[in-house]
Formats: sequence, structure tokens, C-alpha cells
Amino acid sequence: MTCSDPGGTCFCVSMGTGPVPDKGFDLALTELLDHDGHRFLVAPGSDRGEEVLDELTTRAAADEVLNAARTDRDAAREVGTAAAQRMGRSLDTNGLRDLLYANAENPHWDDVASRCLACTNCTLVCPTCFCTSVEDVSDLTGTEMQRYRIWDSCFTNDFSYLHGGSVRASLPSRYRQWATHKLAAWVDQFGTSGCVGCGRCITWCPAAIDITAEVGAIRSGEG
Ligand code: SF4
Ligand code: SF4
Repeated sequence: MTCSDPGGTCFCVSMGTGPVPDKGFDLALTELLDHDGHRFLVAPGSDRGEEVLDELTTRAAADEVLNAARTDRDAAREVGTAAAQRMGRSLDTNGLRDLLYANAENPHWDDVASRCLACTNCTLVCPTCFCTSVEDVSDLTGTEMQRYRIWDSCFTNDFSYLHGGSVRASLPSRYRQWATHKLAAWVDQFGTSGCVGCGRCITWCPAAIDITAEVGAIRSGEG
């Protein structure tokens, strides 16, 4: 879906991920709601998308000139452009990977940690967080064992526990790990940022911690 109504915590334009989908979809939809009525502009992005589209009753957007110069394609472009101009947040990604690697000892990590509750909300709502842990359970007779994979978070003390203790026992090291993995190490691992700019971690943080503000503080040297 093309986003038509970004929230105050959104910054997908900064991350190059929105508000208009440009790849990785079968069908891309843009909702149009104006004086010409309520309708969707649909664009296929794959063979599977084409197949689905063939099954539907549609009309060709290119043929629809609604008034003198404005087609549905024009209207869809306007939706994307307007959404891009209404981002609630921004994040300067210029040199961000190297900036974070160079600031592992920045005192601002302590500042964030003094506010962070280690509640794990930010990792639970993040669409790219994938960390899990393993839990073993036995029955009372000890004859049956079950092993579960469960969601986990790098904000918990146990997540980095090895024999003898946690690798990241301090809260500053856990927030730093999360932010630096998202915005720096992810690029080395997967060739892309681990943050899509959805703003969910900002929305759901009970301590009002804002990844754009914290990284901005690191960049400006306020730490
Ligand atoms: S803004 Fe980035 S780090 Fe925060 S939840 Fe969205 S993708 Fe994850
Ligand atoms: S949601 Fe906020 S308080 Fe909770 S772990 Fe994340 S940064 Fe810390």
C-alpha cells in the first residue's frame, strides 16, 4: 500500500523505504479518495500479482482522464508526494554506519540508559527484529522433553548470557547494541539498514525514547 496518512513518528522517507512501494510486492495499491470518488490504483510487481489482477474486474488507469489533465496515475502520485512531505520525523543516514561504529564509547548511551526501562517494547514492535531464545521443558517424570523457540529481546539481561554471566550486563550496552545493530551492523550483514523508519519503537516506548533523537544526539556530539 502506498501510505497516504503518515504518523507523527514516521520517517520512512529518510530510510528510503516509503511511502510508495517500489519493489518487493505482488500488487501495489494506492487508495484514491477525492471528488472523483473512492477507488484504488493497482500495479502488479510480479507474475503472481499479474495472475491475481487478471482475475479481477478492473479498468486501465492510463485510459482514465478524469478531468482536463489529471489521470488516476497523477492522483496516485500526488498521494505519495503529499505523504512524503508529512513525515513526522527524519533521520540523517549520511555515513551513519561509520558514525555509530566510531561512537561505541559515546556517553550518550549512558544518557539513554538512564531513561530506558529495558521493557523490550521497542524490539517486540519492530518489524525487523527477529531474535529468539530456546526454552527446554520436561514433564514431572523426566521422560518427555520439549524444546521451544520463543521470542526474545536484546534488551533483557538473559539474552546475552553465556556461562558465567551476561555479555551485555549494562543497560547502556544493550541500547547501544540494538541501535548499532539496526543502523550499522545490519548493513554489513544484509546489505541494507535494519530500520525501515516505521516509528513503532518510538510510539510504543513508555519512556519516550526516540531512535531519531538519540542517534541525532550522537551525531551532533551532544552526548
Ligand atoms: S523505526 Fe526502525 S528500529 Fe524502530 S520499530 Fe521501526 S524499523 Fe524498528
Ligand atoms: S521501548 Fe523504550 S524503555 Fe522499553 S526497552 Fe525500548 S528504549 Fe527501553
